[in-house]
Amino acid sequence: MTLIDIKSLSYEKVLETVQDMGEKAFRGKQLYEWMHGKLAASYDEMTNLPKSFRDKLKEQTVYTSLDIVEVLTSRIDGTQKYLFRLADGHVIESVLMKYKHGNSVCVSSQVGCRMGCRFCASTLGGLNRNLTTGEILDQIYRIQVHSGERVSNVVIMGTGEPLDNYDNVLGFLHGISDEYGLNISQRNITLSTCGLVPRIHDLAGEHLQITLALSLHAPNDEKRRALMPIANKYELKDVLAACQEYYDKTGRRLTFEYSLVGGQNDSEEDAAQLNSLIHGMNCHVNLIPVNPIKERDFVQSNKKVIDKFKNKLEKYGINVTIRREMGRDIHGACGQLRQSYLESETT
Ligand code: SAH
Repeated sequence: MTLIDIKSLSYEKVLETVQDMGEKAFRGKQLYEWMHGKLAASYDEMTNLPKSFRDKLKEQTVYTSLDIVEVLTSRIDGTQKYLFRLADGHVIESVLMKYKHGNSVCVSSQVGCRMGCRFCASTLGGLNRNLTTGEILDQIYRIQVHSGERVSNVVIMGTGEPLDNYDNVLGFLHGISDEYGLNISQRNITLSTCGLVPRIHDLAGEHLQITLALSLHAPNDEKRRALMPIANKYELKDVLAACQEYYDKTGRRLTFEYSLVGGQNDSEEDAAQLNSLIHGMNCHVNLIPVNPIKERDFVQSNKKVIDKFKNKLEKYGINVTIRREMGRDIHGACGQLRQSYLESETT
């Protein structure tokens, strides 16, 4: 008998499953609320469920609950990095960032990544496996319980390419915004993708209210190919057309992420080309000074170059911000904590 992955199921599916077990539907509602509202770490916490029902659940299901391996807290800004161990022994990382407007969690969507972006630590070991819906949700649940902080914003910008794990990420988006769960507003959720064109079209058709962020990182196809292998598969004109469709269908302003890599994509000419590429789109550009990783020799653009790039875009009337570096003292960059953990295990 294969065990049911109960935390990955939608509200309706939980009710159905519970009735298939011979229980009343309201038990399903109670169970769903224990998992996704009260954030129980095990069935034993669900004290108002009859013991006989809990025993059935233990027999027929797996209950995902991530183990905290390590929590690092930044002395600079209070950012916390969580390293979690999954039931099969893999480790993943998530980040809690505290802003004036609320607490934001950055979740991982895969164990590793197969997209191969040259500057990114998450992709160094390739892809191990997709995360289940329950494993993506539980990153937020365990952080909320451990920190005692209410999470109001979510960014899917940790390890992995979310649109390469489409169904489970979609389940996550529905689960995290479910009225019987944490009920986080979809408007407070951002999904970042390197640009899987067919999946962006699919996402546009889901009629969600989440923000789509595209990892653009270059002003033309040639430069993009040098940084991101996925650019060999999809041309910028198709990627941007898919983003435009997302905007047309949802009305949500687009975010373009642009990691500035010293000497590669940070000249004033690059800024001018970038403007021609996206001018007229309802968008916002988020500049990220590249976080150098030791396995690659990319360097950060210097502060003056970054300011020049930003000013140039602003002159064209483009809405632009520079991403604040959070948790610089605790392996701030994407996938670096997990990477250093994996290295320490093998040495
Ligand atoms: N797979 C998704 C999520 C990745 S992480 C995507 O590609 O969008 C979120 C953002 O951080 C992406 O824009 C990614 O390209 C960027 N990023 C990854 N490593 C980085 C680094 N070392 N320095 C700066 N930005 C980085």
